[in-house]
Amino acid sequence: MTWKANYHTHTTWCDGKDSPETVVLSAVAKGFEAIGFSSHAMLPKPILDWVLTPEKSLRYADEIRDLASRYSGRIRVLCGVEADYSAGSASPDRSSYAAMKPDYIIGSIHFVTAPDGALVCVDKSPQSLAEGVRDHFGGSVEAYIRAYFAQQREMVGRFDFDIAGHLDLVRKFNTKHPYFDESAAWYREELEKTADAVAASGKIVEVNTGAISRGWMDDAYPSAAFRALLRERGVKFILSADAHSAETIDCAFDRFGNAEEYTRFL
Ligand SMILES: [Zn+2]
Ligand SMILES: [Zn+2]
Repeated sequence: MTWKANYHTHTTWCDGKDSPETVVLSAVAKGFEAIGFSSHAMLPKPILDWVLTPEKSLRYADEIRDLASRYSGRIRVLCGVEADYSAGSASPDRSSYAAMKPDYIIGSIHFVTAPDGALVCVDKSPQSLAEGVRDHFGGSVEAYIRAYFAQQREMVGRFDFDIAGHLDLVRKFNTKHPYFDESAAWYREELEKTADAVAASGKIVEVNTGAISRGWMDDAYPSAAFRALLRERGVKFILSADAHSAETIDCAFDRFGNAEEYTRFL
């Protein structure tokens, strides 16, 4: 890696621990060239309260842009969002964020829409996930994971955003609480179809080390096998920490800094 930057950073504006300014100071101390903020934004309607609402997003953008001007010359500070996709209630499309004019948008899926319309949270806890699969996917992990990737393909194909976030977030609990076989033929088939869709969309894929700092697994998203499929199709990568604190903005960057040839982003 020839430069240091992280574009996936959470703060007290959502579920992060530190203020944006504390994070900027950490980034300066670590010799970063750029730090991008990506508060969770506009989750599906029943779960709206703790993320950026349309009104909060304007105050958030003001605060980040004030930091950008105060720290200019020392570090580039960028104002992004991590925007959820859930059919019918949340879209990561640039048009949904026209008022705050983010510098970039990460499109992410944290909730899978089940056939009965229920939203099953991908990353809350192994227990809540097991209940969601049992109650809304007839107990079929394969059906749940296929629905997750179908939603990913729909998201990258339909919306105007920049970075596809943690593409295989379904692996989060699979190390400590194994619930599916990542070498199964059906899983590989989903990865291939999704890699095709991402390549066709032109979206950048992040290599996201967030599960390492949070202790869920000792690996990044996407897996090495998934990254190989993406790489073969010419997809571009950036490295991101999905940091929820000032000290983790470069978590495992030493290990993953050379895992891919990263593109320079903003
Ligand atoms: Zn996320
Ligand atoms: Zn995130």
